[in-house]
Amino acid sequence: METVTKAVRDTVGALTGSQTDSKPQQQSAGVAKSKITKNDWILLTGASGFVAGHVLVALLKAGYKVKCTVRSNEKATKIRSLYRQYASALDFVIVKDIAETGAFDEAVKGVTGVIHTASPFVMENTGDNRKTLLEPAIQGTLNILNSIKTYNPDVSRVVVTSSFASVLDLSKGDWVGHTYTERDWNPVTYDEAAFADGAFAYCASKSLAEKAAWNFVKDPSHGNFSLATICPPMVYGPVDTETMSLSALNTSTADIYRLMNGSEKKVPNTLFYAWVDVRDVAMAHVRALEAAPKPNGVEDRFLTTPGVFSYKEICEIIARRFPHLVEAGLTPDPKEADEVPPHYNVDGSKSVLELQLAYKSLETSMVDTVESLLKLEKQEGKAQANVTV
Ligand code: NDP
Repeated sequence: METVTKAVRDTVGALTGSQTDSKPQQQSAGVAKSKITKNDWILLTGASGFVAGHVLVALLKAGYKVKCTVRSNEKATKIRSLYRQYASALDFVIVKDIAETGAFDEAVKGVTGVIHTASPFVMENTGDNRKTLLEPAIQGTLNILNSIKTYNPDVSRVVVTSSFASVLDLSKGDWVGHTYTERDWNPVTYDEAAFADGAFAYCASKSLAEKAAWNFVKDPSHGNFSLATICPPMVYGPVDTETMSLSALNTSTADIYRLMNGSEKKVPNTLFYAWVDVRDVAMAHVRALEAAPKPNGVEDRFLTTPGVFSYKEICEIIARRFPHLVEAGLTPDPKEADEVPPHYNVDGSKSVLELQLAYKSLETSMVDTVESLLKLEKQEGKAQANVTV
């Protein structure tokens, strides 16, 4: 991640900023309802992913039937075996590449709601950003919207997983004194992203894909559905130890694992200062699916976060709750960490108010994350050192 940090800093210039507190928000009553009803079939794309795995659980528990897109039969079989009790509420369609024209033509049939999470989340340099990041994100989003428009007029609500990466303006650095909300947009262009470093291009892929989705629904002939977008920052929380392996952790989980497996000798600089627990992100998707659409022209966009954080705070939590990891040199000692520079704040209050979210604390989220990763280590019979993102 240090490499990524450096790459972003190199791209956007020196960062400055201010630190602020994060506090979970209070719940509020009254979410207006959409046309989606329990028992409906909902399409969930990228169901094998970290975030989608939690969205799947939240949908099934809420009483929906879920049609999942995955890239292979093997992944479908694995997910099916985890949820035997929901056998009649699960279906699968293989979508090998979301960027292919018509990728979702079959998948969208028979559902009334869609949650589109599938998108590459990689921050390393992967060669051609257009092929590895920009096209799957942008074209993948347009493909699913076009398939709905052409093949399924019964879809009334679409929720797209966007990101804080789509909100954050990297050119402003740590932007001291600024509080990010849903009104902010990452202003990056396709051409700037095509040959930039991986982290910058990933942020661009999310921003450009989300903008493409909002532009799509502005056309009155787009179809019968309304759109909501969820913009989570770094998503942490427990991994599913049945499906995950330490050698193939998703990017944000690997971001925590390196702080507990000896990969980092010193607390690293924080790259993105906002976070959220994956179970709250999952609930945000379900609530957004169920929420009534906004009047014409109002973007139903949600910055889903309880607030800001730093890796120093995470290491402090690990040191307090899992002291053996610091004693063994697997977690960097937070007492030796550099001061966190001042930086921007974030405001997730709209998501609390409109989606009735009650965010988990960083401590709860970290304890559950670390416990699940320790369990995975035990299952795999060893601690894997030097995992980097
Ligand atoms: P994962 O890598 O765990 O999941 C990504 C999913 O997308 C996987 O199911 C993957 O399939 C699928 N996918 C990626 N590219 C393609 C493609 N070209 N064709 C078909 N399927 C594809 O990542 P996360 O769960 O962390 O991320 C899920 C979503 O949440 C993404 O949209 C990401 O941008 C967004 N997000 C995540 C954050 C985080 O911190 N985790 C923060 C903010 C937003 P397979 O596994 O088979 O490769």
